[in-house]
Amino acid sequence: MQRKWLNLLLIYGSIIIISGFHYYTSTGHHYFHDIYRRLYYIPIIFAAFLYGVRGALICSVCISLIYIPHAFFWYTAHRDPAGTVEKGLEILLYNLVAIVTGTLAARGKAEKEKHRHTALNLEKSLAELKQVEGELLRAEKLSAIGQLSAGLAHEIRNPLSSIKGAAEILAADFPPQHKKHRMLLVLDREADRLNKVLSSFLSFAKPQSMQFKSGDIINRLEKVVGLIEAQANNADIKIVRQYPAKLPPINMDEEQLGQVFLNLLLNAIQSMSEGGELTIDIQQVVKDNKPMLKFYFSDTGAGIKAEDLPNLFNPFFTTKQEGTGLGLSICYRIIEQHAGKIGVESSPGEGASFSLWLPLEE
Ligand code: ADP
Repeated sequence: MQRKWLNLLLIYGSIIIISGFHYYTSTGHHYFHDIYRRLYYIPIIFAAFLYGVRGALICSVCISLIYIPHAFFWYTAHRDPAGTVEKGLEILLYNLVAIVTGTLAARGKAEKEKHRHTALNLEKSLAELKQVEGELLRAEKLSAIGQLSAGLAHEIRNPLSSIKGAAEILAADFPPQHKKHRMLLVLDREADRLNKVLSSFLSFAKPQSMQFKSGDIINRLEKVVGLIEAQANNADIKIVRQYPAKLPPINMDEEQLGQVFLNLLLNAIQSMSEGGELTIDIQQVVKDNKPMLKFYFSDTGAGIKAEDLPNLFNPFFTTKQEGTGLGLSICYRIIEQHAGKIGVESSPGEGASFSLWLPLEE
């Protein structure tokens, strides 16, 4: 605002000063009159660059109106001594220069704005490209790890079943209080745990084919929430539902999406070891010009460290002692197969908020 007034003061102040000199210089100093007459171009050009054609024309018309009495009617001792035609042409030129420089300046400004816009678009495209590159890298990594772990898991599974079977048979030979019986039970339990990890590996490495059909997402979500409600109650966790009873149908694989919900809810419960609040919020939004459902799963748990955030959806990333680090990478893939997106925001100590976008049927 201040700059604007300063510019106006500069333009109109200089016109008044030049005119003052013009009016009070005697006719004998014709060189000075020639100089003052041409000095008027400076405020005109300045106004053209700042305010375009309109600003420049207002300025040139003001100058013309101020100059005309001095050029033709002011008392003879101080009148501009130049010829009448010359003075008339000068007045015409003030206005022509205003139109030409105003137009050129406006064009320059438009061009500059266009370049700024292009630069912004380029910057945006570059960021998108980087994101796609990251996603591609992750997909490649997922597929390589997937193939490797599928092979390994198969190889380990059979001997593991034999170990578990043998441990069960041997345990039956000792009474329950016997030290060896207890040790064989540990063997049996650990074999079960390994088997569970292998199952996760396999479901990650060899995802089941999707069975898409139109369905009620709230119904699916409610079933999963029902599964974890008791566990949440025991852990002193309040579940807050912020969604309507009914939403438009979406094309989905119910089982797989159920797995995503279960994984996100269990992770949230595990992060709130001292109780808290788990909020599930669903909204209808438009993302990338498409109607979508946006899910928020927010908890008030331990949160996630900034340096862990980029690794969260990578396979085998875990901070839990007994974690496999496969849950979120499986979620990521399932959501991708639904043409959706998944993201997370969190800071340590302030909980985590997972967002899911799933396309609505059009
Ligand atoms: P896992 O549960 O086996 O560790 P996940 O892929 O499901 O594997 O999760 C990976 C990691 O992401 C977890 O070990 C944990 O550190 C972090 N995480 C996931 N969800 C949450 C959450 N709601 N709050 C805090 N940390 C989370």
